[in-house]
Amino acid sequence: MTARYDAIVLGAGPAGSTAARELARTGARVVLLDRATFPRDKPCGGGVTFRADAASGIDLAPVTEREIYGVRVSIDMRRPFERRSGRVLARMTQRSRLDAYLAGEATAAGADFRDGSPVRAVEIDGATMRARVNGDVYEAPVLVGADGVNGQTARALGLAPLSEHAVAFEANYPADARTLDHWSRFIALDLTGIPGGYGWVFPKGDHLNIGVGGWKRVGPTLRARLAKLCAFYGFDASRLYGYRGYQLPLRRDGAAVVRGGAMLAGDAACLVDPLSGEGIWAAFVSGRLAAEEARRYLAGEAPDLAGYQHALDAEMREEILASRRLQAILQRLPSFSVLMLKYNGVFWRYMTEIIRGEITYPDLPRKLGPLRHIINRWGDWEIARHERGLAADPRR
Ligand SMILES: Cc1cc2nc3c(=O)[nH]c(=O)nc-3n(C[C@H](O)[C@H](O)[C@H](O)COP(=O)(O)OP(=O)(O)OC[C@H]3O[C@@H](n4cnc5c(N)ncnc54)[C@H](O)[C@@H]3O)c2cc1C
Repeated sequence: MTARYDAIVLGAGPAGSTAARELARTGARVVLLDRATFPRDKPCGGGVTFRADAASGIDLAPVTEREIYGVRVSIDMRRPFERRSGRVLARMTQRSRLDAYLAGEATAAGADFRDGSPVRAVEIDGATMRARVNGDVYEAPVLVGADGVNGQTARALGLAPLSEHAVAFEANYPADARTLDHWSRFIALDLTGIPGGYGWVFPKGDHLNIGVGGWKRVGPTLRARLAKLCAFYGFDASRLYGYRGYQLPLRRDGAAVVRGGAMLAGDAACLVDPLSGEGIWAAFVSGRLAAEEARRYLAGEAPDLAGYQHALDAEMREEILASRRLQAILQRLPSFSVLMLKYNGVFWRYMTEIIRGEITYPDLPRKLGPLRHIINRWGDWEIARHERGLAADPRR
């Protein structure tokens, strides 16, 4: 069978389902392909920040299991303290529920969702984009590659957006009602103990999600670290279930995400926030931008899809760079960072405003006036130092 559409969207995670939904809403004929049979799970804490919620373009209340108003912070499993906000910071969901819901919204908007469709090859044939699924062929003038961190679209297009991977390892804990109540409005973050990352507890409806993440080189230590983190919170690690580990892709600054009629979105474009590991916000934003540019191209308002590269860079480039700088500086000065978070109300307020999308990461150094130049230079210096170490590391 050969089927023709206006657009093929490859991957029905938050990026792909958002792109498919937004494009289908404009009347385009869209096929949304995913190799998994839905509902499917994905290694993910399922934390949807307020900014991601706002960027989703739909009401996520039906798949929200908790709303978060505060953070229980600890410093390498010591010196715990709490920070609260009067306003909601994040929604907690499970990816099996969220992604099935998003794919359902895309279908409701008119997209032809075909799960259980593993794409074996992506091809560019002049102005035609082609995806091969077993014996079937899908053709369209536009293809959105939203096939995640190890997706094949980027490789097939000859695009290389990856700078480096972070890694994360997580499991679920079957908490009792009292424990769930204790965590109902809080997440936990254990900071400074892991190079390039942190540990977390995210409460769900009937369990807790506990995880640890950091630079790729710390991968082999994460299972032991997770067990220690459990003990720190008073949980019995032998009761953990559903262990999962996966990669988080960080973008090479300014990397190309468009070729011919094809665009990359979400993890396929390596858009994870370096400081927090958040990827759902960028998946929503890039999915929406890809749909908007596809619409313009299909309507003859744009000669090609170059506008997506510009729009994505305008939205994400400074954001990712500022987050990466902040991460590098906070990692260099762990004690200072913790003091800021614990005692400096203004810093905490700015962090909550970033999480809520009221300010951006680049706004943070801007608030320092002329001092921001020194902070930015310092951040760049720390990043370069990290990259030199990476280049010399045989485990990279
Ligand atoms: C352990 C861990 C915890 C995380 N926690 C959080 C968190 O709490 N909050 C947050 O914001 N981010 C978190 N992230 C990051 C977040 O999970 C990702 O950034 C996000 O899922 C990216 O969405 P996406 O739509 O780009 O890709 P994905 O969600 O990965 O979706 C890609 C889809 O493509 C499909 N696919 C791939 N190849 C093919 C193929 N050949 N044919 C057909 N289909 C294909 C897959 O089946 C999948 O459904 C976490 C990541 C990890 C690893």
